[in-house]
Amino acid sequence: MSHRVHVFVTCDIGDALNILRKRGYEVEVYPYPEAPPKSLIIEKVKSGVDGLITTLRDPIDAEVFAAGKGTLKIIAQFAVGFDNINRADANRYKVPFTHTADVLTEATAEFAFFLMGALARKLWPAEHLTRDNQWSYWHPYLPFLGDEVTGKTVAVIGTGRIGLAFIKKCAGFDMNILCFDPVYENHDYIKAIQEVKDLRFQRRISRERVTIRYTTLQEALSSADFISLHVPLLREGESPSPTYHLINETTLRMMKPTAMIINTSRGPVVDENALARALREHWIAGAALDVYAIEPLPTDSPLRDPSIADRCRLTPHFASAATITRLSSDPNQGMAGRCVQGLIDVLEGNYGGDITKMPYVVNKEAFEK
Ligand code: NAD
Repeated sequence: MSHRVHVFVTCDIGDALNILRKRGYEVEVYPYPEAPPKSLIIEKVKSGVDGLITTLRDPIDAEVFAAGKGTLKIIAQFAVGFDNINRADANRYKVPFTHTADVLTEATAEFAFFLMGALARKLWPAEHLTRDNQWSYWHPYLPFLGDEVTGKTVAVIGTGRIGLAFIKKCAGFDMNILCFDPVYENHDYIKAIQEVKDLRFQRRISRERVTIRYTTLQEALSSADFISLHVPLLREGESPSPTYHLINETTLRMMKPTAMIINTSRGPVVDENALARALREHWIAGAALDVYAIEPLPTDSPLRDPSIADRCRLTPHFASAATITRLSSDPNQGMAGRCVQGLIDVLEGNYGGDITKMPYVVNKEAFEK
Protein backbone atom coordinates (compact mmCIF):
# COMPACT_ATOMS: atom_id res chain seq x y z
CA MET A 1 0.00 0.00 0.00
CA SER A 2 1.40 3.39 -0.95
CA HIS A 3 2.11 5.92 1.79
CA ARG A 4 -0.49 8.69 2.09
CA VAL A 5 1.19 12.07 2.56
CA HIS A 6 0.25 13.54 5.94
CA VAL A 7 0.48 17.25 6.64
CA PHE A 8 -0.19 18.97 9.96
CA VAL A 9 -1.22 22.63 9.70
CA THR A 10 -0.85 24.64 12.90
CA CYS A 11 -3.54 27.12 11.86
CA ASP A 12 -6.24 27.19 9.19
CA ILE A 13 -4.94 28.93 6.04
CA GLY A 14 -8.18 28.64 4.05
CA ASP A 15 -9.12 27.16 0.68
CA ALA A 16 -5.53 26.67 -0.52
CA LEU A 17 -5.46 23.52 1.64
CA ASN A 18 -7.96 21.97 -0.77
CA ILE A 19 -5.15 21.86 -3.34
CA LEU A 20 -3.45 19.35 -1.04
CA ARG A 21 -6.66 17.44 -0.28
CA LYS A 22 -7.40 17.11 -4.02
CA ARG A 23 -3.97 15.55 -4.46
CA GLY A 24 -4.88 12.91 -1.89
CA TYR A 25 -2.90 14.34 1.01
CA GLU A 26 -4.21 13.80 4.52
CA VAL A 27 -4.47 17.35 5.86
CA GLU A 28 -4.93 17.82 9.58
CA VAL A 29 -5.62 21.39 10.71
CA TYR A 30 -5.30 22.58 14.31
CA PRO A 31 -8.88 23.73 14.83
CA TYR A 32 -8.45 26.69 17.21
CA PRO A 33 -7.45 30.29 16.42
CA GLU A 34 -4.68 30.30 19.03
CA ALA A 35 -1.30 28.68 18.36
CA PRO A 36 -1.09 24.99 19.32
CA PRO A 37 1.19 24.17 22.25
CA LYS A 38 4.67 23.18 21.15
CA SER A 39 4.12 19.77 22.80
CA LEU A 40 1.29 19.09 20.33
CA ILE A 41 3.47 20.01 17.35
CA ILE A 42 6.11 17.60 18.65
CA GLU A 43 3.48 14.89 19.18
CA LYS A 44 2.22 15.29 15.60
CA VAL A 45 5.74 15.28 14.19
CA LYS A 46 6.57 12.17 16.24
CA SER A 47 3.50 10.44 14.81
CA GLY A 48 5.21 10.65 11.41
CA VAL A 49 3.82 13.65 9.52
CA ASP A 50 5.65 14.37 6.25
CA GLY A 51 5.10 18.12 6.31
CA LEU A 52 4.28 20.90 8.71
CA ILE A 53 2.64 24.20 7.80
CA THR A 54 3.62 26.76 10.40
CA THR A 55 3.11 30.41 11.24
CA LEU A 56 5.36 32.87 13.04
CA ARG A 57 3.74 31.77 16.34
CA ASP A 58 5.25 28.29 16.26
CA PRO A 59 8.74 27.77 17.71
CA ILE A 60 10.48 25.25 15.44
CA ASP A 61 13.82 24.04 16.75
CA ALA A 62 15.98 20.97 17.40
CA GLU A 63 13.30 19.39 19.62
CA VAL A 64 10.84 19.42 16.72
CA PHE A 65 13.40 18.25 14.16
CA ALA A 66 14.59 15.44 16.46
CA ALA A 67 10.97 14.29 16.88
CA GLY A 68 10.62 14.10 13.09
CA LYS A 69 13.96 12.45 12.33
CA GLY A 70 13.57 10.24 9.27
CA THR A 71 9.96 11.28 8.59
CA LEU A 72 9.61 15.09 8.60
CA LYS A 73 10.50 16.31 5.13
CA ILE A 74 9.42 19.95 5.01
CA ILE A 75 8.37 22.94 7.10
CA ALA A 76 6.29 25.39 5.04
CA GLN A 77 6.10 28.73 6.82
CA PHE A 78 3.11 31.00 6.20
CA ALA A 79 5.16 34.26 6.40
CA VAL A 80 8.23 35.85 4.87
CA GLY A 81 9.96 36.22 8.25
CA PHE A 82 11.18 32.94 9.73
CA ASP A 83 12.80 33.97 13.01
CA ASN A 84 10.63 31.35 14.78
CA ILE A 85 12.51 28.61 12.89
CA ASN A 86 16.00 27.76 14.04
CA ARG A 87 17.87 27.71 10.74
CA ALA A 88 20.99 26.05 12.15
CA ASP A 89 18.85 23.23 13.60
CA ALA A 90 16.96 22.81 10.31
CA ASN A 91 20.28 22.53 8.51
CA ARG A 92 21.68 20.07 11.02
CA TYR A 93 18.66 17.79 10.52
CA LYS A 94 18.63 18.56 6.78
CA VAL A 95 14.99 19.64 6.73
CA PRO A 96 14.21 22.32 4.14
CA PHE A 97 11.89 25.14 5.08
CA THR A 98 10.01 27.50 2.77
CA HIS A 99 8.57 31.00 3.21
CA THR A 100 6.16 33.29 1.37
CA ALA A 101 8.35 36.19 0.24
CA ASP A 102 7.19 38.68 -2.42
CA VAL A 103 3.43 38.05 -2.29
CA LEU A 104 3.13 40.20 0.86
CA THR A 105 5.65 42.87 -0.11
CA GLU A 106 3.26 45.54 -1.43
CA ALA A 107 0.64 44.92 1.27
CA THR A 108 3.21 45.29 4.06
CA ALA A 109 4.87 48.31 2.48
CA GLU A 110 1.60 50.18 1.98
CA PHE A 111 0.52 49.38 5.54
CA ALA A 112 3.78 50.87 6.84
CA PHE A 113 3.11 53.93 4.70
CA PHE A 114 -0.46 54.26 6.00
CA LEU A 115 0.75 53.90 9.60
CA MET A 116 3.22 56.71 8.95
CA GLY A 117 0.40 58.87 7.59
CA ALA A 118 -2.01 58.00 10.41
CA LEU A 119 0.64 58.89 12.97
CA ALA A 120 1.76 62.10 11.28
CA ARG A 121 -1.75 63.43 10.63
CA LYS A 122 -3.03 62.28 14.06
CA LEU A 123 -5.91 60.31 12.59
CA TRP A 124 -6.56 58.36 15.80
CA PRO A 125 -6.73 61.36 18.19
CA ALA A 126 -8.73 63.27 15.57
CA GLU A 127 -11.35 60.52 15.31
CA HIS A 128 -11.51 60.24 19.10
CA LEU A 129 -12.10 63.96 19.34
CA THR A 130 -15.07 63.60 17.01
CA ARG A 131 -16.52 60.42 18.52
CA ASP A 132 -16.05 61.52 22.13
CA ASN A 133 -17.93 64.78 21.47
CA GLN A 134 -14.86 66.84 22.25
CA TRP A 135 -15.03 68.69 18.92
CA SER A 136 -16.52 71.96 20.07
CA TYR A 137 -15.19 74.45 17.51
CA TRP A 138 -13.17 74.71 14.30
CA HIS A 139 -9.91 76.50 15.12
CA PRO A 140 -6.69 77.16 13.16
CA TYR A 141 -4.54 75.16 15.58
CA LEU A 142 -6.55 73.97 18.57
CA PRO A 143 -6.64 71.41 20.08
CA PHE A 144 -3.71 70.08 18.02
CA LEU A 145 -2.15 69.94 14.58
CA GLY A 146 -0.57 67.12 12.65
CA ASP A 147 2.33 67.18 10.20
CA GLU A 148 2.44 66.49 6.47
CA VAL A 149 4.54 63.68 5.14
CA THR A 150 4.80 65.30 1.69
CA GLY A 151 8.24 66.81 1.16
CA LYS A 152 9.62 65.42 4.44
CA THR A 153 12.63 63.13 4.92
CA VAL A 154 12.13 59.43 5.57
CA ALA A 155 14.80 56.95 6.62
CA VAL A 156 14.31 53.43 5.29
CA ILE A 157 16.21 50.92 7.41
CA GLY A 158 16.62 47.72 5.39
CA THR A 159 16.27 47.96 1.61
CA GLY A 160 15.16 44.44 0.79
CA ARG A 161 11.84 43.56 -0.83
CA ILE A 162 9.55 45.51 1.53
CA GLY A 163 11.95 48.43 2.08
CA LEU A 164 12.18 49.02 -1.68
CA ALA A 165 8.39 48.81 -2.09
CA PHE A 166 8.02 51.32 0.77
CA ILE A 167 10.50 53.63 -0.99
CA LYS A 168 8.34 53.49 -4.13
CA LYS A 169 5.30 54.66 -2.12
CA CYS A 170 7.28 57.46 -0.41
CA ALA A 171 8.58 58.64 -3.79
CA GLY A 172 4.96 59.28 -4.81
CA PHE A 173 4.67 61.72 -1.90
CA ASP A 174 7.79 63.68 -2.90
CA MET A 175 9.71 62.61 0.17
CA ASN A 176 13.48 62.84 0.51
CA ILE A 177 14.70 59.33 1.22
CA LEU A 178 17.73 58.19 3.22
CA CYS A 179 18.48 54.48 2.93
CA PHE A 180 20.51 52.23 5.20
CA ASP A 181 21.36 48.59 4.61
CA PRO A 182 24.73 47.18 5.74
CA VAL A 183 24.31 43.95 3.77
CA TYR A 184 23.23 44.94 0.27
CA GLU A 185 22.80 48.35 -1.37
CA ASN A 186 20.55 48.32 -4.44
CA HIS A 187 22.01 51.29 -6.32
CA ASP A 188 20.16 50.45 -9.54
CA TYR A 189 16.80 50.84 -7.84
CA ILE A 190 17.83 54.02 -6.02
CA LYS A 191 19.08 55.51 -9.31
CA ALA A 192 15.77 54.69 -11.01
CA ILE A 193 13.79 56.31 -8.17
CA GLN A 194 15.98 59.44 -8.46
CA GLU A 195 15.27 59.55 -12.20
CA VAL A 196 11.51 59.38 -11.52
CA LYS A 197 11.83 62.14 -8.91
CA ASP A 198 13.82 64.30 -11.35
CA LEU A 199 11.26 63.80 -14.11
CA ARG A 200 8.41 64.78 -11.78
CA PHE A 201 10.30 67.95 -10.90
CA GLN A 202 11.22 68.78 -14.53
CA ARG A 203 7.64 68.26 -15.67
CA ARG A 204 6.33 70.41 -12.77
CA ILE A 205 4.46 67.54 -11.17
CA SER A 206 6.51 68.14 -8.01
CA ARG A 207 7.26 71.60 -6.65
CA GLU A 208 10.63 70.81 -5.08
CA ARG A 209 13.49 68.60 -6.23
CA VAL A 210 13.78 65.72 -3.77
CA THR A 211 16.52 63.14 -3.46
CA ILE A 212 17.26 59.56 -2.48
CA ARG A 213 20.60 58.12 -1.37
CA TYR A 214 22.25 55.54 0.84
CA THR A 215 23.87 56.76 4.04
CA THR A 216 25.01 55.62 7.48
CA LEU A 217 22.60 54.49 10.20
CA GLN A 218 23.65 57.47 12.31
CA GLU A 219 22.90 60.01 9.56
CA ALA A 220 19.65 58.30 8.59
CA LEU A 221 18.38 58.33 12.18
CA SER A 222 19.55 61.81 13.06
CA SER A 223 18.31 63.59 9.92
CA ALA A 224 14.97 61.92 9.24
CA ASP A 225 11.47 63.13 10.09
CA PHE A 226 10.21 59.54 9.79
CA ILE A 227 12.05 56.26 10.25
CA SER A 228 10.60 53.01 8.91
CA LEU A 229 12.08 49.61 9.79
CA HIS A 230 12.16 46.83 7.17
CA VAL A 231 14.77 44.41 8.52
CA PRO A 232 14.53 40.73 9.44
CA LEU A 233 14.96 39.84 13.11
CA LEU A 234 18.57 38.67 13.41
CA ARG A 235 19.91 37.90 16.85
CA GLU A 236 23.54 38.04 18.00
CA GLY A 237 25.49 35.30 16.20
CA GLU A 238 23.01 35.06 13.31
CA SER A 239 24.52 37.95 11.33
CA PRO A 240 27.52 40.30 11.43
CA SER A 241 24.91 43.09 11.66
CA PRO A 242 22.21 41.80 14.03
CA THR A 243 18.93 43.70 14.26
CA TYR A 244 17.85 42.67 17.77
CA HIS A 245 17.29 45.94 19.68
CA LEU A 246 18.67 47.94 16.73
CA ILE A 247 16.41 50.67 18.08
CA ASN A 248 17.49 51.19 21.67
CA GLU A 249 18.19 54.07 24.03
CA THR A 250 21.34 55.10 22.10
CA THR A 251 19.75 55.04 18.64
CA LEU A 252 16.51 56.66 19.89
CA ARG A 253 18.57 59.51 21.30
CA MET A 254 20.06 60.10 17.82
CA MET A 255 16.60 60.95 16.45
CA LYS A 256 15.14 64.45 16.27
CA PRO A 257 12.54 65.34 18.94
CA THR A 258 10.06 65.77 16.07
CA ALA A 259 10.88 62.37 14.53
CA MET A 260 8.44 59.47 14.32
CA ILE A 261 9.28 55.78 13.96
CA ILE A 262 7.29 53.02 12.27
CA ASN A 263 7.96 49.33 12.90
CA THR A 264 6.32 46.69 10.72
CA SER A 265 9.34 44.34 10.83
CA ARG A 266 9.63 42.30 14.05
CA GLY A 267 9.01 43.39 17.64
CA PRO A 268 12.43 42.56 19.13
CA VAL A 269 14.08 44.95 16.66
CA VAL A 270 12.91 47.70 19.03
CA ASP A 271 13.68 47.89 22.75
CA GLU A 272 10.11 48.60 23.87
CA ASN A 273 11.04 49.91 27.32
CA ALA A 274 13.44 52.41 25.78
CA LEU A 275 10.82 53.41 23.19
CA ALA A 276 8.08 53.94 25.79
CA ARG A 277 10.48 56.13 27.75
CA ALA A 278 11.46 58.07 24.61
CA LEU A 279 7.78 58.79 23.96
CA ARG A 280 7.00 59.68 27.59
CA GLU A 281 10.00 62.00 27.85
CA HIS A 282 9.55 63.44 24.32
CA TRP A 283 12.94 62.39 22.94
CA ILE A 284 10.90 61.62 19.81
CA ALA A 285 7.41 62.67 18.71
CA GLY A 286 5.70 59.40 17.85
CA ALA A 287 5.76 55.71 17.08
CA ALA A 288 3.52 53.34 15.15
CA LEU A 289 4.04 49.67 15.83
CA ASP A 290 2.58 46.58 14.20
CA VAL A 291 4.86 44.02 15.86
CA TYR A 292 5.95 43.42 19.45
CA ALA A 293 8.50 41.57 21.56
CA ILE A 294 5.63 39.46 22.91
CA GLU A 295 2.52 38.91 20.79
CA PRO A 296 -0.32 39.42 21.50
CA LEU A 297 0.74 42.62 23.30
CA PRO A 298 0.67 41.94 27.08
CA THR A 299 -1.78 43.94 29.19
CA ASP A 300 1.09 45.40 31.23
CA SER A 301 3.16 46.52 28.23
CA PRO A 302 4.71 49.98 28.74
CA LEU A 303 3.46 50.80 25.23
CA ARG A 304 -0.10 50.82 26.61
CA ASP A 305 0.69 53.76 28.92
CA PRO A 306 -2.33 56.10 28.46
CA SER A 307 -0.05 59.14 28.76
CA ILE A 308 1.52 58.30 25.36
CA ALA A 309 -1.63 57.05 23.61
CA ASP A 310 -1.97 60.19 21.48
CA ARG A 311 1.43 59.55 19.84
CA CYS A 312 1.76 55.77 19.91
CA ARG A 313 -0.24 53.80 17.36
CA LEU A 314 -0.56 50.06 17.95
CA THR A 315 -1.87 47.50 15.45
CA PRO A 316 -2.09 43.69 15.87
CA HIS A 317 0.63 42.36 13.50
CA PHE A 318 -1.66 43.33 10.68
CA ALA A 319 0.58 44.63 7.88
CA SER A 320 0.13 41.64 5.55
CA ALA A 321 -3.52 41.23 6.57
CA ALA A 322 -5.19 41.91 3.22
CA THR A 323 -7.58 39.27 1.87
CA ILE A 324 -5.84 38.32 -1.38
CA THR A 325 -2.39 38.66 0.16
CA ARG A 326 -3.20 36.28 2.99
CA LEU A 327 -5.58 33.80 1.42
CA SER A 328 -5.29 33.59 -2.37
CA SER A 329 -4.58 30.02 -3.52
CA ASP A 330 -2.55 31.46 -6.41
CA PRO A 331 1.14 31.12 -5.46
CA ASN A 332 1.84 34.37 -7.30
CA GLN A 333 -0.72 36.31 -5.26
CA GLY A 334 -1.28 34.82 -1.84
CA MET A 335 0.68 33.60 1.13
CA ALA A 336 -1.60 30.54 1.37
CA GLY A 337 -0.99 29.57 -2.27
CA ARG A 338 2.75 30.14 -2.05
CA CYS A 339 3.00 28.22 1.22
CA VAL A 340 1.17 25.21 -0.22
CA GLN A 341 3.23 25.32 -3.44
CA GLY A 342 6.48 25.36 -1.44
CA LEU A 343 5.31 22.26 0.43
CA ILE A 344 4.32 20.48 -2.81
CA ASP A 345 7.66 21.32 -4.47
CA VAL A 346 9.54 19.47 -1.74
CA LEU A 347 7.13 16.57 -1.13
CA GLU A 348 6.63 15.85 -4.83
CA GLY A 349 10.25 16.38 -5.84
CA ASN A 350 9.66 19.21 -8.30
CA TYR A 351 12.72 20.79 -9.96
CA GLY A 352 14.15 17.31 -10.42
CA GLY A 353 14.11 16.93 -6.65
CA ASP A 354 16.90 19.52 -6.38
CA ILE A 355 16.04 21.56 -3.28
CA THR A 356 18.59 24.22 -4.20
CA LYS A 357 16.49 25.03 -7.29
CA MET A 358 13.16 25.33 -5.46
CA PRO A 359 12.21 29.02 -5.39
CA TYR A 360 10.51 29.17 -1.98
CA VAL A 361 13.06 27.13 0.01
CA VAL A 362 15.06 29.37 2.38
CA ASN A 363 17.86 27.15 3.71
CA LYS A 364 19.26 26.01 0.38
CA GLU A 365 22.77 26.02 1.84
CA ALA A 366 22.05 22.74 3.65
CA PHE A 367 21.47 20.97 0.34
CA GLU A 368 24.33 22.25 -1.80
CA LYS A 369 26.54 19.43 -3.04
P1 NAD B 1 14.33 41.04 2.84
O1 NAD B 1 15.21 39.94 3.30
O2 NAD B 1 14.02 41.16 1.38
O3 NAD B 1 14.88 42.46 3.34
C1 NAD B 1 15.49 42.68 4.56
C2 NAD B 1 16.64 43.65 4.34
O4 NAD B 1 17.18 44.02 5.61
C3 NAD B 1 17.79 43.06 3.51
O5 NAD B 1 18.09 43.88 2.42
C4 NAD B 1 18.94 43.00 4.48
O6 NAD B 1 20.19 43.24 3.87
C5 NAD B 1 18.59 44.14 5.44
N1 NAD B 1 19.29 44.08 6.72
C6 NAD B 1 19.80 42.99 7.37
N2 NAD B 1 20.40 43.39 8.51
C7 NAD B 1 20.26 44.73 8.57
C8 NAD B 1 20.67 45.72 9.52
N3 NAD B 1 21.36 45.39 10.62
N4 NAD B 1 20.35 47.01 9.27
C9 NAD B 1 19.66 47.37 8.16
N5 NAD B 1 19.28 46.48 7.22
C10 NAD B 1 19.56 45.18 7.44
O7 NAD B 1 12.96 40.85 3.66
P2 NAD B 1 11.54 41.50 3.35
O8 NAD B 1 10.74 40.59 2.50
O9 NAD B 1 11.74 42.91 2.94
O10 NAD B 1 10.91 41.44 4.83
C11 NAD B 1 11.53 42.14 5.91
C12 NAD B 1 10.93 41.72 7.23
O11 NAD B 1 9.63 42.28 7.38
C13 NAD B 1 10.66 40.20 7.36
O12 NAD B 1 11.83 39.51 7.75
C14 NAD B 1 9.59 40.16 8.42
O13 NAD B 1 10.19 40.01 9.69
C15 NAD B 1 8.90 41.52 8.33
N6 NAD B 1 7.51 41.41 7.86
C16 NAD B 1 6.50 41.80 8.69
C17 NAD B 1 5.18 41.74 8.26
C18 NAD B 1 4.05 42.16 9.14
O14 NAD B 1 2.93 41.65 8.96
N7 NAD B 1 4.22 43.11 10.04
C19 NAD B 1 4.89 41.29 6.97
C20 NAD B 1 5.94 40.93 6.15
C21 NAD B 1 7.26 40.98 6.60
